[in-house]
Amino acid sequence: MLETQNLRAGYGHITVLWDLSLSFREGALTAIVGPNGAGKTTLLRALTGLIPHGGEIRLGGKRLAGKTWDLAGQGIVMVPEGRLVFRDMSVEENLCLGAYPKRCRGDLSSGLDRVYGLFPRLRERRGQAAGSLSGGEAQMLAMGRGLMSQPKILLIDEPSLGLAPVIVNEVFDIIARLKEAGTTILLVEQNTRVALSVADDVHLLRGGQVRLSEPAAQVDLDRLHDLYFAREA
Ligand code: ATP
Repeated sequence: MLETQNLRAGYGHITVLWDLSLSFREGALTAIVGPNGAGKTTLLRALTGLIPHGGEIRLGGKRLAGKTWDLAGQGIVMVPEGRLVFRDMSVEENLCLGAYPKRCRGDLSSGLDRVYGLFPRLRERRGQAAGSLSGGEAQMLAMGRGLMSQPKILLIDEPSLGLAPVIVNEVFDIIARLKEAGTTILLVEQNTRVALSVADDVHLLRGGQVRLSEPAAQVDLDRLHDLYFAREA
């Protein structure tokens, strides 16, 4: 459903992504793994129109061009690294902001019901300031806010970042449930073990290039780690 062809992107004169041709299947969870600085977040920024790109990005066969807010309107929605919730606003106010795209505004209460069904803890804390949530709860809120936009594809950046292992497992259980509910997900994650536990397809990115693309069930972890840690030639 979402594809890139010869995607190039970077910052000013620095190219970070080199001719990436990737495809993300509808209804599947695709994990992008790779070391620090591989270009994972840059890929998400290019896919959401936050930075300019060369090459093509296509959604459902249609070439995308435009600014972030147009893309959110078309159904590409990012859950950013570090959660970035509005700390002084309540949980429910943060969720309602996710329903900003025009096509979601009329459907606020059914959107909230759906998100609270997935995250009962957010319902309990609906009036609480988002800044007072635990790290795991804030991650749930950031994912719930993304779902309020009724995404065609949800891009989740490093959900395990800064969370205790037991909370990481809880967050990934929820990501697995989102996938089972039919959400198409693109997951960027440094923790290959947890990423592989939920992924259908895996791409390893290093030095801005794809080093391995495989169905998750076929991935040999030793080989993946060899490629992950290989030195640049
Ligand atoms: P991490 O896992 O550490 O978050 P990443 O794979 O997500 O890494 P990116 O954040 O995409 O990597 O960064 C890729 C490269 O682009 C790095 O060398 C980084 O220093 C550089 N970079 C990222 N953001 C900017 C920016 N705003 N301006 C200039 N260079 C940047």
